[in-house]
This record gives sequence, structure tokens and C-alpha cells, in this order.
Amino acid sequence: MRIILLGPPGAGKGTQGERLVKKYKIPHIATGDIFRAAIKEGTELGLMAKDYMDQGLLVPDELVVGLVRERLAEEDTAQGFLLDGFPRTLAQAEALDAALAEMGTPLTAVINVDVGQDALVERLTGRRVCRGCGSTYHIKFNPPTVRSVCDKCGGELYQRSDDSVDTVRQRLEVYRRQTEPLIAYYQKQGILYTVDGSRDIDQVFAEITSYLDQLA
Ligand code: ADP
Ligand code: ADP
Ligand code: ZN
Repeated sequence: MRIILLGPPGAGKGTQGERLVKKYKIPHIATGDIFRAAIKEGTELGLMAKDYMDQGLLVPDELVVGLVRERLAEEDTAQGFLLDGFPRTLAQAEALDAALAEMGTPLTAVINVDVGQDALVERLTGRRVCRGCGSTYHIKFNPPTVRSVCDKCGGELYQRSDDSVDTVRQRLEVYRRQTEPLIAYYQKQGILYTVDGSRDIDQVFAEITSYLDQLA
């Protein structure tokens, strides 16, 4: 199963991705997580990505594509993978298609998680992430049992610096301009499936899995 989760910031890609990779036993490849880890470690990649991320802009394609190519070449992708937050531009989508064609492993499905603008702002500004394990919560829609503490690992929850109202607006604009055209791109390939991401987390998960299960 080789899947892309497509959708605007805050659509629930990370949340659904976490659950999907558990169910289908495939690696979760989230480019945003890779960049945040690189920033934390102070690597060169992190240094190059940080300014773009802080401003709510996309990291340049050259940086992202090479990274994903390398990641897809690792052994654990033999059973498939779930890409979350990649591709985000047409150039990235074309580079991915080329890489997968070379490997002889075409995409199974592109799940487009559809959520309206107002809900996205509320989701992003209320998002909290675990410093320990990276799990995602929401202060209102998916709160931890104990305030600011991760249910899974006891780690501290924090707010991403790019989840401030102003940066969120910028990111949503960038999504509309640079990423939304991918919906038509994958529709043309006949592999796009759109789910209503405005429903609750369990309902969205059920819809995605019932679609993926009937493909298998
Ligand atoms: P993305 O990875 O697409 O940016 P996340 O999975 O991080 O999105 O979700 C953004 C925020 O919205 C998080 O705080 C998450 O807990 C919350 N969230 C995710 N899915 C839903 C949903 N179906 N209903 C309400 N809140 C949700
Ligand atoms: P969200 O789903 O909430 O937008 P991500 O964690 O996916 O957040 O991405 C955070 C930031 O990382 C993006 O705003 C962008 O700067 C950078 N980034 C992640 N993935 C990509 C990508 N495929 N191309 C360019 N930049 C990316
Ligand atoms: Zn945790």
C-alpha cells in the first residue's frame, strides 16, 4: 500500500497518518516531522529549512525531493509507505512519479482530506504536539487526559511556533496557491479519493480505511 495523504495544514493528515500506519504496518513519512527533527538536531538540513518554516513558506523543492528519494530507498518501504505533507508542489509530485516509476512501485491511492478554511484555523491554533513522541492533540477536539501531558508517553505538550494565527493564515494561502493544484493532478491519474475531513477523527478514519480495504 503506497499512499499519499493530501490536504491543507490542519486537515488531520498527521492524526489519520498515525492511525493508518499502525493499521497497515507501513512507515509514516512526514516531511514536516523530518524537518523539525533536523532543526532540533541542528543539522545543515535543519538550518536550511528553518527560516522558510518559521515564515509559513515551503522549503525549496530541491531540498525536499532529495530527502524523500533517499527515504523511499530505505528497506522498510518494501511493504509500502504513507506520505504525509509530501508532495506539496507540482514539481514535487512529478519528481515523486519519476522516482516511483524508476522503482516500479506506483502509488496505490491519494487520499484528499477536505476541510473548510475556518475549521482549519481553529484546528491549527489549538494543536498541541508531544515533545517526546510527536503525538498530536487538540485542546478542544482531542485533549489529553491530563492537561499538557501526553497520554502515550507522559511527555510535555507544546505549541508549534508556526501554529500562531498569522503564520497559519500564510500557510493556508501557500497551500491554496502551491498545493491545491495537486488535487487535479491526481484526479487526472484516476487515483484521488476525497474524504470529508470535517467530521470527527474516528469517522474520518473509518471512511479512509473502508476505501483502502476495498482496494486491497
Ligand atoms: P495536519 O497534519 O493535516 O496538519 P493534524 O493531524 O496535526 O493536521 O491535525 C491538526 C489539529 O486538528 C490537531 O490539533 C488535531 O488534534 C486536530 N484534528 C485532527 N483531526 C480532527 C478532526 N477530525 N476533528 C477535529 N480535530 C481534529
Ligand atoms: P502542516 O501539515 O501543519 O502544514 P507540516 O508539518 O507538514 O505542517 O509542515 C510544516 C512546514 O514544513 C511547512 O509549512 C513547510 O515549511 C515545511 N514542509 C513540510 N513538508 C514540505 C514539503 N513537502 N515541501 C516544502 N516544505 C515542506
Ligand atoms: Zn508522547
